[in-house]
Amino acid sequence: MAGPSVVVIGAGVVGAALADELSARGWTDVTVVDQGDVPATGGSSSHAPGLVFQTNGSKAMAEMARYTVEKFVGLGAFLQVGGLEVATTPERLRELHRRYGWATSWGLEAELLSPEECVVRHPLLDAERVLGGLFLASDGLALAVPAVAAQLARAQERGVRVLARHEVLDVVAVDGRVTGVVTDKGEISADVVVCCAGIWGPRVARMVGMELPLTPLAHQLAWTGRLPELAGDVVASLPILRHQDADLYYRDRNGTLGVGYYGHRPMPVSADDILSVDAAEVMPSLTAFTPDDFADAWTETQSLLPATRTAKVEEGVNGLFSFTTDNMPLMGESRDVRGFWVAEAVWVTHSAGVGRAMAEWLVDGRSSIDLHECDVNRFERHQLAPEYVLARGCQNYVEVYDIIHPLQPMEDPRPLRTSPFHVRQRELGAYFLEASGWERPHWYGVNEGLPAPSYVPNDWAARYWSPIVGAEAKATREGVALYDMTALKRLEVSGPGATAFLQRLTTGDVDKSIGSVTYCLLLDGDGGIRSDVTVARLGADHFQVGANGELDLDWFERHRPGDVFVRDITAGTCCLGVWGPRARELVQPLTGVDLTALRYFRGARGYVGHVPVTMLRLSYVGELGWEIYTTADMGLKLWDTFMREGAIAAGRGAFASLRLEKGYRSFGVDMTFEHDPYEAGLGFAVKLGKGDFIGRDAVVERKESVRRKLTCLVLDDVVMGKEPVYHDGRAVGYVTSAAYGYTIGRGIAYAWLPAELSVPGTAVRIGYFDRLVEAVVAAEPLFDPAMERLRG
Ligand SMILES: Cc1cc2nc3c(=O)[nH]c(=O)nc-3n(C[C@H](O)[C@H](O)[C@H](O)COP(=O)(O)OP(=O)(O)OC[C@H]3O[C@@H](n4cnc5c(N)ncnc54)[C@H](O)[C@@H]3O)c2cc1C
Repeated sequence: MAGPSVVVIGAGVVGAALADELSARGWTDVTVVDQGDVPATGGSSSHAPGLVFQTNGSKAMAEMARYTVEKFVGLGAFLQVGGLEVATTPERLRELHRRYGWATSWGLEAELLSPEECVVRHPLLDAERVLGGLFLASDGLALAVPAVAAQLARAQERGVRVLARHEVLDVVAVDGRVTGVVTDKGEISADVVVCCAGIWGPRVARMVGMELPLTPLAHQLAWTGRLPELAGDVVASLPILRHQDADLYYRDRNGTLGVGYYGHRPMPVSADDILSVDAAEVMPSLTAFTPDDFADAWTETQSLLPATRTAKVEEGVNGLFSFTTDNMPLMGESRDVRGFWVAEAVWVTHSAGVGRAMAEWLVDGRSSIDLHECDVNRFERHQLAPEYVLARGCQNYVEVYDIIHPLQPMEDPRPLRTSPFHVRQRELGAYFLEASGWERPHWYGVNEGLPAPSYVPNDWAARYWSPIVGAEAKATREGVALYDMTALKRLEVSGPGATAFLQRLTTGDVDKSIGSVTYCLLLDGDGGIRSDVTVARLGADHFQVGANGELDLDWFERHRPGDVFVRDITAGTCCLGVWGPRARELVQPLTGVDLTALRYFRGARGYVGHVPVTMLRLSYVGELGWEIYTTADMGLKLWDTFMREGAIAAGRGAFASLRLEKGYRSFGVDMTFEHDPYEAGLGFAVKLGKGDFIGRDAVVERKESVRRKLTCLVLDDVVMGKEPVYHDGRAVGYVTSAAYGYTIGRGIAYAWLPAELSVPGTAVRIGYFDRLVEAVVAAEPLFDPAMERLRG
């Protein structure tokens, strides 16, 4: 069984990993083509210094890095010299504690070092400059070209063909499906084509009409002459070193020091302007070193590493590699051309992990790790605009080592997407953060005078925060408030096959009366949660689906039969959540819909004043009220209609707090592809009795073997998310969402814990920066467990 015929474009570290992983799974009808010589093709992998720091804010990225290390060690293509990140500012020292937390949360062994210990690890450091460090003994140097050679050799032994000096000139697709590639040496037919073309990715993807949001940028790497302080005949004698306060990193090589620098001006290059293998002086992915851009890096290096004061920069490159709009890789199949896949914007650090995940996805239909942050189809349309791609790619280059708060929005380009309420929100002094391009009020300045619960946040919790957040939460619990829910994705699903389609795709029984609303899940074939959605039946063959993002639309499109239509109606519509115990008092006088008769999880169409609306009796904040939808043109009128009655508006800050008090999960944060409904506390949304649906067989099995649980913790402080949770001094899980609960007067954190610890009363500790915060497992939800408020 050789599997389908596959062409992998690119024999860099990603293409080589993929060929190896595919062939290991029995797919051996694989041809790897590269325009350059193999294994040193002239791509980014050919000159990468190969530093592998595994610590990452993303669990998936850390897991892919860990696998890369393990695999390369096994291949003899890794020097496990350790990785040291140092702090020269108090802010960075705190950040290293946060990073220590991430490493621990994702199962990587890490150590925090004193300045003296840093110098013991890396004797070139000036002890006076260093405040502390983070050390991972398992980090080190990937030998990229040997790793390419070793993985390709293994693949070739299994039957994979490797064609050097074959440039792909075109990718052929017939009726929306790839059939092969055209190279300068002839055609190769294929059922699957995977673009692992690195910085050339946008050019190759365009061959099938796909816009790849990737920007190649030049990055400076320089080498000193020999330093007497370094062992001259050893490939690498010191740990790899990062000095993020100055955008610098270091490795040694045969007695010289490599200095990488991200602090220079962004130098983007169009994929179309990259030279061909033959035209390039050294190799296509290298451009000439620009010493002026390196001046600050060298001054700072001589300060941090005094031994370099007598040395010179002997050589340097401006090497090209890929940046994306959100700093994550691009993986997956084109939405429009079946069989055309990409694995792009991948560092050497994650390459083998990406190769494995891609191979699993291709062979088994899904990866064993959660890839929702990496899926190439995650982007909204505006995020594919060339100007946006360029601006964000450059900004991410600049920020690559910056300390980023979880709520920190992009600064430019803004504003991009605004709801119809935006103009009024500005008048009310809204403080906006950004999500998927949408401007979202976090609180409103006008509410400053409202009574606020007393709460003093810690340093990090106080950022992107105002006491008004608490006031708006209180106002919602005690009165009524308007929440702009426009940014939530809305899909219209219609057509004769719509009901059967949704029955098959979701875990809920949506074949109920018109007006019903169902909260349910989308599952993978293995029972992993792909999303959570609300399905409102607005007609016999007409549904409105409240979804999480582009990947839901993509999932629907991929499964949609010919008699079902799926339309993204987000931009053309808007939504106000009108919630609070006095919601009926506010809304009933404005509408002919009998709101008392409209029960919880039911919907109706009608009018609010002059505005035609769809009202769904749902609430993410756990209060009486409705999501009220109308078309974008009527949005402002809807807002004004409520405001004229004296309503107040509330922002996302209050929303996040109220949501957690009520225990409502957020997809992508609390649960992802790797979790099943029963672990996530969402078993109630799975209707096993309704007949078959995607993932049903798998969840029937998984239901019986729940070993971990999404667990509610309460604490006297507030954490941010992603922190490790300890029990008996051992790391046992990690935090997902966290907020202060203004109604309950305590901090709330949801965390993944082993099932045996997920018992109310269990005491745990959360590693928050340099502190351990005491927390206790609590029964959930923390607020209104009897659901009296919602059903009232
Ligand atoms: C200066 C510098 C320092 C770096 N340091 C590090 C580091 O320390 N750690 C780290 O993890 N990463 C580092 N990186 C990033 C890393 O090198 C890249 O992200 C990684 O090598 C990309 O691998 P790839 O296989 O995707 O791309 P590449 O290695 O570029 O491979 C793509 C291949 O596709 C081929 N190709 C393209 N178009 C075609 C076509 N039409 N037909 C046929 N073949 C085609 C190319 O010839 C090339 O061989 C660094 C990069 C640079 C430039």
